[in-house]
Amino acid sequence: MSYTITVIPGDGIGPEIVGAMQKCIDSLGLDIAWETALAGEPAQKEYGTLLPEETLGLIRKNKIAIKGPITTPVGSGFRSINVAIRQALNLYACLRPAKSIPGLKTRYDDVDLIVVRENTEDLYKGIEFDQGRPETLKLIEMIEKYSGSTILKDSAITIKPISITCSRKISRFAFDLAQKENRKKVTAVHKANIQKATDGLFLHTFSEVAKAYPQIKAEDIIIDNFCMQTVKDPTRFDVLVLPNLYGDIVSDLCAGLVGGLGIAPGANIGDECAVFEPVHGSAPKYTGLNKVNPTATILSGVMMLRYMGEMEKAGILESSVYEVIREGKSVTYDLKPDRNDPSAVGTEEMAEAIIEKIEEKL
Ligand code: NAD
Repeated sequence: MSYTITVIPGDGIGPEIVGAMQKCIDSLGLDIAWETALAGEPAQKEYGTLLPEETLGLIRKNKIAIKGPITTPVGSGFRSINVAIRQALNLYACLRPAKSIPGLKTRYDDVDLIVVRENTEDLYKGIEFDQGRPETLKLIEMIEKYSGSTILKDSAITIKPISITCSRKISRFAFDLAQKENRKKVTAVHKANIQKATDGLFLHTFSEVAKAYPQIKAEDIIIDNFCMQTVKDPTRFDVLVLPNLYGDIVSDLCAGLVGGLGIAPGANIGDECAVFEPVHGSAPKYTGLNKVNPTATILSGVMMLRYMGEMEKAGILESSVYEVIREGKSVTYDLKPDRNDPSAVGTEEMAEAIIEKIEEKL
């Protein structure tokens, strides 16, 4: 079967790790044509916009895309390109597995969690009112009138919408995934004791959806307790489902449990298309240094191959990555017990070692 996949190199370390991932996937011998689309800094230079319509069009056309990270300048007025892509294509489910890699020395060696993060609403909706603006003051007045509470006039406000529609969709996604992967339990993580309206609705909807899946255990936990329980014993949990912001934070926490951001893959999945990407960002300080770990992006490629139904090739790629990590020789600095170990290799050299393993298996 032949495939056309949209590839978005992104910026910062993106082009280096995406290039490494493409080389590894190309070595599997599949019939894949890559169509490159720009987003972030390279798109700004070429098209004068950070997210060109052409890029969204290419993702829609090919239905499958894989991307590198894109830098989001903090507090500078425009929304994150990554969030914009997820919202524009209604990629409502963000899937981030956190699985121990055999032989990689971390605090735990038996973690096997899947974070399912709602990807389109919550505080990520991008509805913000800056401090001191006339519309912000009007909003404050209206809120005070209807809620009976007072808000300091020098406040900024971010809106947190949580709907039944999106909570239902993401809960069903989590239970369907649990069923497909023979998982035993889905845990909703929330702060419904304080955010009774929004997280309360999320939790209530989750509990309603759970009734249709009697064979899978459904439980819920307050997010602060979840963080404490997880760092003590991550094997307590299985599939996790969370609103957008908690999902973002918890997926970094879970990445830390299994060896850090360098090895944490992810996928953004909708009904029409899917975009695969590492959990980590563009790590600008390492740009162009051939230094960072390509594993998170390569394992995102493994998720993509499984989504395409290429199970055998996905297995070959995954086991090749695992072997290189287990041997511990041709790995980047972050996978060495001492991060200053001079024997650490670069991004390209680690990808070459993975390709050697792939070639031995083909
Ligand atoms: P980051 O994930 O880019 O980097 C944090 C640290 O993690 C790095 O300094 C580095 O020590 C380590 N790290 C990250 N990737 C690594 C890799 N592949 N190998 C080894 N070590 C790695 O987070 P940040 O510094 O908070 O964000 C930088 C930019 O990336 C910001 O503009 C942020 O908005 C953006 N970002 C983008 C995405 C995305 O495109 N999906 C996701 C997260 C952050």
